[in-house]
Amino acid sequence: MIIIMNSGVTDEQVDAVVNKIRSFGLDANISRGTERTVIGAIGDERKLEPEMFDTLPGVEYSMHIVKQYKIVSRESHKHDTLIDIRGVQIGGNQIQVIGGPCSVETQQQMDLAAQQVADAGCRLMRGGAFKPRTSPYTFQGKGEEGLAIFRQAADKHNLPIVTELMDARMLDTFLKHDVDVIQIGTRSMQNFELLKEVGRINKPVILKRGMSATISEWLMAAEYIAAGGNHNIIFCERGIRSFETAYRNVMDVTCIPVLKKETHLPVIVDPSHAGGKAWMVPALARAAIAAGADGLLVEMHPNPCEAWCDADQALNPQEFKDLMGSLKGIAQVIGRSM
Ligand code: PEP
Ligand code: MN
Repeated sequence: MIIIMNSGVTDEQVDAVVNKIRSFGLDANISRGTERTVIGAIGDERKLEPEMFDTLPGVEYSMHIVKQYKIVSRESHKHDTLIDIRGVQIGGNQIQVIGGPCSVETQQQMDLAAQQVADAGCRLMRGGAFKPRTSPYTFQGKGEEGLAIFRQAADKHNLPIVTELMDARMLDTFLKHDVDVIQIGTRSMQNFELLKEVGRINKPVILKRGMSATISEWLMAAEYIAAGGNHNIIFCERGIRSFETAYRNVMDVTCIPVLKKETHLPVIVDPSHAGGKAWMVPALARAAIAAGADGLLVEMHPNPCEAWCDADQALNPQEFKDLMGSLKGIAQVIGRSM
């Protein structure tokens, strides 16, 4: 943290700032220039906030000089982190595509979907049992019954399951059904109490980007999980809100290299919730892999016309299989496997 003082600053005002810094156990370095006096806080500056100083007499402004995220930052951990999900790794050379329907509907639908996901060559499956719907009058998900249906369908093909947790009170239920990866949805990215709860367990967590969150807010959300002890975090870009109405959200391709620079944790992309239309998904998926994503979360339904949720954006099994084929080509070009 550095604190820049006003031009007419007095010695008493400088002392007050220095004393405040010292009261937090840090040391202070005073640099007196011809125009300005600048005070640097030396030590773990994460204990300090600009607003602690900005209101003191004689202070012009203050700012952090190190990033507020620590455990998730690449500064603290140089090498890429591999997240292991029952032997399937995310964040390594191999790209992982997590396929499956938006929501768990019936045993028959999930059995078929699991078969198709496995046939297409995926090693992980998605499906929501608790759905964050915009309207309270639409299908809200099958709930706990959905977890059991999903588990049974996926187990036949030894596919680890990815499913969304919206309420910390359901965490024990998720653990009872041995959910392999907990998804935190876009609407929950800044539900800090939920983040703290998933921080206390050691299951991998997919942290979706809030639809209006900056990259720095997203990294801080991940830091909440990591600070609790759970470092098994996978970032998932799913599109952000903009003024554009021709598609559901803007898939922020730029965030992929930025995150890769800022964090050692894996980054995946959900092209389905970004585009919102099935026909856009292959192009967006290929762009994400080309830009360096470690994997994808893609909605696929045995019969999209009959999907109970997000029918417009679900690929049918053949489209999904074709997409997997074309992604292999991209992966090869950039020296990765699928
Ligand atoms: C989902 O993956 O089904 C979902 C609801 O995603 P998001 O939180 O990105 O809207
Ligand atoms: Mn969906």
